[in-house]
Amino acid sequence: MDFKKLRKMAGDPKFISGIYNYCDRWCERCEFTSRCLNYSMTSEDDARDPASRDIQNQAFWDRLHNVFRETIQMIREDAKERGIDLEMSPEEVKAFEKEESRKRREAKNHPASKAAWKYVKMVDKWFDDNKPLFEEEERKLNSAFLMELPGQDHEEEAALLQDALEVIGWYQHQIWVKLQRALHQDDDDDLLDDEGKPYPRDSDGSAKVALLGIDRSIEAWGVLRRYLPTGGDSILGTMVHLDRLRKRVERAFPAARAFVRPGFDGPIPGPAEA
Ligand code: SF4
Repeated sequence: MDFKKLRKMAGDPKFISGIYNYCDRWCERCEFTSRCLNYSMTSEDDARDPASRDIQNQAFWDRLHNVFRETIQMIREDAKERGIDLEMSPEEVKAFEKEESRKRREAKNHPASKAAWKYVKMVDKWFDDNKPLFEEEERKLNSAFLMELPGQDHEEEAALLQDALEVIGWYQHQIWVKLQRALHQDDDDDLLDDEGKPYPRDSDGSAKVALLGIDRSIEAWGVLRRYLPTGGDSILGTMVHLDRLRKRVERAFPAARAFVRPGFDGPIPGPAEA
């Protein structure tokens, strides 16, 4: 996509500004694809070159590089228009890098961050240990389905189980990633909007996405527990760990739940159609 087209698209009122900053990137399940600039840019590139979605493919990295280059160009032009100097002296660059590495270290060592990483490992282990359970459940569902046993909707059960597995898989790493972003931010509370109110904190937005991922994962583990009772104790342990993580994140970011994500929370801004 060329720069002019990108700029034109960015000004289109049908797109909800910044919606993609606080979503879970699960576009296949998102109700706002038609109002998301990020999705439109990506799907347009995909239609032209289906291989560009493949992370193994050079086209993917080319696209990423192009979007980055065009965004930088846009930022430079905007900064110039507003008289903002983007150049940094070597000393400033060094100080910036030092500060960034300190923030990264602190975010990684935060107790919530460690607990989220532990969860990643717990999920891997649980799936490694419980492979036979899935095979058994699949066999039971298949035979019940073939025998047309009355009283239960086996297709619906299988779909629920599949959904739960997808949800756990989707958020497994994302919770940690979003927490890293939340913990890495140094939000400036002194910056005020036109009405003199402080801007919403980006860290709260990222923490909210992590919290929603935790909520949904707990629900999904609950579904697994219902259908795989023999995996009960270890599932319960995982759910307790997630619940503790949730409380920890809520303590670290007390305003996160109230953060209004553009499009997803509160009134939907702008026209629904272009
Ligand atoms: S807002 Fe929806 S469509 Fe856009 S990137 Fe996020 S999940 Fe995908």
